[in-house]
Amino acid sequence: MLGIRNYLNGRLVAPLAGRYLDNIDPATGQVYGQIPDSDASDVAAALAAAEAALPAWRALPAEERGRYLVKIADLINRDLERLAHAESQDNGKPLSLARVMDIPRAASNFAFFGTGVPHFASEAHLQEGLALNYTVRHPVGVVGCISPWNLPLYLFTWKIAPALAVGCCVVAKPSEITPATAYYLSELCIEAGLPAGVLNIIHGTGPGAGQAIVEHPGIKAISFTGGTATGQHLARTAAPMFKKLSLELGGKNPNLVFADCDLAAAVKTSIRSSFANQGQICLCGSRIFVQRPIYEEFKAEFLRQLAEQKVGDPLAEGTTQGALVSEAHLNKVLSYIRLAEEEGGTLLAGGERVQLEGRCAQGYFLQPTVFEGLGPECRVNQEEIFGPVVTLTPFDTEEDALAWANSTVYGLSATIWTRDLDRAHRVAHQLHAGVVWVNTWLHRDLRTPFGGMKSSGVGREGGLEALRFFTEAQNVCVKL
Ligand code: NAD
Repeated sequence: MLGIRNYLNGRLVAPLAGRYLDNIDPATGQVYGQIPDSDASDVAAALAAAEAALPAWRALPAEERGRYLVKIADLINRDLERLAHAESQDNGKPLSLARVMDIPRAASNFAFFGTGVPHFASEAHLQEGLALNYTVRHPVGVVGCISPWNLPLYLFTWKIAPALAVGCCVVAKPSEITPATAYYLSELCIEAGLPAGVLNIIHGTGPGAGQAIVEHPGIKAISFTGGTATGQHLARTAAPMFKKLSLELGGKNPNLVFADCDLAAAVKTSIRSSFANQGQICLCGSRIFVQRPIYEEFKAEFLRQLAEQKVGDPLAEGTTQGALVSEAHLNKVLSYIRLAEEEGGTLLAGGERVQLEGRCAQGYFLQPTVFEGLGPECRVNQEEIFGPVVTLTPFDTEEDALAWANSTVYGLSATIWTRDLDRAHRVAHQLHAGVVWVNTWLHRDLRTPFGGMKSSGVGREGGLEALRFFTEAQNVCVKL
């Protein structure tokens, strides 16, 4: 049994009230560990430790803070195999995916901000003979970082690394559904010699430990990734205290496939963008709009390649589809499959729970599922499902495709498939999406702004945006 502890003031400790939650392996449905069910008293202790560590940490030269981060990145890379196993067991994702995506990216997050922060320069504005304005960026203080279960270590470190880099101290909470790699990260921070209290990792539920982080007046900024409803609740609590907020929320992302595209590339990548991580990536494209002249050809090839997907034990070679993260989430996704049928959709593939044998007999597996014949306005095409369920819809004109793409409350990402350069730019600029890919998907450059429009969030992460978020700008005007 994995006995997870909180990382508080440099040490691994039990929650003060001594309460624990079960940690379930979604591939087997079995309890395999215990997670601290921390509360406001644990958060208060973490905050006190962070506040005590803050003066020394923020006073360190950026290069020295960066060196700690690079050391942590090296340790994550050293332990890649162990961390990938832990991520796969906690989340249900194929081990092969955790090896090439989750864990390498977590290391890159630390390395990127650790090596980047020395280049984060102050700005100066000279008014010749009159005044010199210079802008200093102070760390905002102690910040809260709260992350979801779909890319556990990847998204957790995407927040923590820039906060630490600029000199903030952190109280962080990973999802209670996938806490294991955050726990291993705390061990690596101790090994790296990160000063006590600089980073504190408190485990527990959203309404418990999470809410306590959001409510605590000592937390000056909150970086949150999770569902839109949770983001709304969080904003209601934090806004009256004038906390800085970065909210990365849900999505219902469109793929626009034009008739002039490279069809083979569009199909191959659309399979990935539909079903990678069992469709549980906020950037997955769940609404695929295909221009009518190639609709039937796209559909046939998409279904042919879909049949090559293998639902299986996440640890087995060759598995492309692991387990969904929990029984509750599996039931939510199944309810949308039933809704798609009620709304008049035609099931083209999948639609059923998968019963595996052996150690995975009780796991939460689902066939990758495709519907057609659903209007862009129906609930299945408007609401986030966050599972391996996509719809195919033909369109005639660019105007229709754009109107349907923009018709949801969300605006996270979109993908365009076309060989027409003019169209690619024209359509991209009219899409209500913070992240647009042309002829590719999930191609990331950590320097670029990342985040959503409309109900997909507020603010941007990544590169300078993240460093700015965790700092407070102060302008000093000197008369010359
Ligand atoms: P969630 O909102 O249920 O939980 C996210 C985190 O918030 C968890 O750590 C949870 O414990 C915590 N939380 C819940 N209630 C809280 C409260 N009252 N106060 C403070 N913290 C609270 O989301 P989830 O189910 O873990 O993740 C799936 C969602 O995340 C999907 O909607 C997905 O689109 C979204 N997501 C968005 C992005 C992005 O970059 N925009 C990335 C990944 C996932």
